Amino acid sequence: MKHDLGRLLTREREAHRALGATLERQPARVEAMRDFAFAWQTNSMALPTARNRHPFVLPDGRELRRLNTRQRAELYEALGYLDPNLLFAAPGGSMAGFVVDGLGDEATRERFHAHFEGELCWTFFALSEPAVGSDASRLAARARKVDGGYLLDGEKYFIGNGALAPLGVVFARTNDGPLGLEAFLLETRGLAGFSARPLAPSGCPACNFAHLKLDGVFVPDSHRLGGHLKPTERFSRSALLTFDALRPCVAAAALGVAASLLDRAEETFRADARWLRAGRARLEAMRGLLFACCDDFDQGRRAGRRAGLMKAAATALAEALALETLHRAPAGAALDWPWLAKGWRDVKAFEYTEGTRFIHWQNAAAGFQEREHGAR
Ligand SMILES: Cc1cc2nc3c(=O)[nH]c(=O)nc-3n(C[C@H](O)[C@H](O)[C@H](O)COP(=O)(O)OP(=O)(O)OC[C@H]3O[C@@H](n4cnc5c(N)ncnc54)[C@H](O)[C@@H]3O)c2cc1C
Repeated sequence: MKHDLGRLLTREREAHRALGATLERQPARVEAMRDFAFAWQTNSMALPTARNRHPFVLPDGRELRRLNTRQRAELYEALGYLDPNLLFAAPGGSMAGFVVDGLGDEATRERFHAHFEGELCWTFFALSEPAVGSDASRLAARARKVDGGYLLDGEKYFIGNGALAPLGVVFARTNDGPLGLEAFLLETRGLAGFSARPLAPSGCPACNFAHLKLDGVFVPDSHRLGGHLKPTERFSRSALLTFDALRPCVAAAALGVAASLLDRAEETFRADARWLRAGRARLEAMRGLLFACCDDFDQGRRAGRRAGLMKAAATALAEALALETLHRAPAGAALDWPWLAKGWRDVKAFEYTEGTRFIHWQNAAAGFQEREHGAR
């Protein structure tokens, strides 16, 4: 890998891939991630920089205690390259951390951070629902105001780590309409009315996604995130910013999977050199666009639709390269080299995580039309 974080993470490639294989066999054993050489680093990224005692130490000695969007994309690319199971099973604040950092007041952030001090902790981000998927405008989970807090009712679906993590963020409505959507911090150990049933994904089993049920779950007022913000700011500060920041990273993970397939095709069955060169050039071009998008985001420019389009394009390229790798392989190769079928299967997860390409295209088209014909 051309970047420092990638070089650092892929140094022990085979040991990391063996850990990925363990998770493949026993995905719910996320505790196995204690053997991951960078578990404390991903975990501690949830903490404020000054309290992070586990920086990534780059080959040149530089220490990274907090990753910007570009560095995070590099990390995701490296984990995709090693085994995407590692990415999904890594401890840390992940998407929930973005929401809490963006919306939580000081006391709530402190409560969240405490889970990562001195212990590894996993989190979930519960937006999608069984009937409406990730269409936020149609979410049905409800939050009803009662004395001292809220009662949550509803269901959440496809929630990564949902049955394993003790901590997460859940979205529910206090009112109909776009301004009624709110985020709540959930601490699920022994929480009355909360249940989670693991679902069986067909790829990346360590995403450990689950079907959550909220049946009159009580959350105190202090766990409602963004209470100090205007309603118009809440959803945009939480879910939208989280998606903006993480879509390029998901794209990078997909590129990492594709890069590993090309490398393995070269190492195992000596795939055609011209095709490999062309495939790597396509990856490099996409990586360049992607990192430029990350840099813009890091400089404070909203990535919005561009981040969605980038994710759509990168996952499409990764899928295409995975399919081409299968086509280039000798007959029977999928039997001899399980990584081939696994890569082809795993790469599809990235199409779904953070929105499918058709939705990103629709959003972008609406934006272009608006720009061309003026807002209506
Ligand atoms: C591995 C994995 C982990 C996940 N983790 C989480 C998580 O932690 N938290 C969470 O909240 N969610 C999670 N999800 C859910 C994920 O975010 C959603 O599945 C994803 O955003 C797609 O939304 P959807 O299921 O509503 O599908 P839809 O958006 O309904 O799409 C279904 C299909 O129909 C197509 N389609 C839909 N509408 C249109 C249209 N108008 N025009 C053309 N085509 C259309 C789509 O492109 C797609 O092919 C996860 C999913 C996966 C696969």
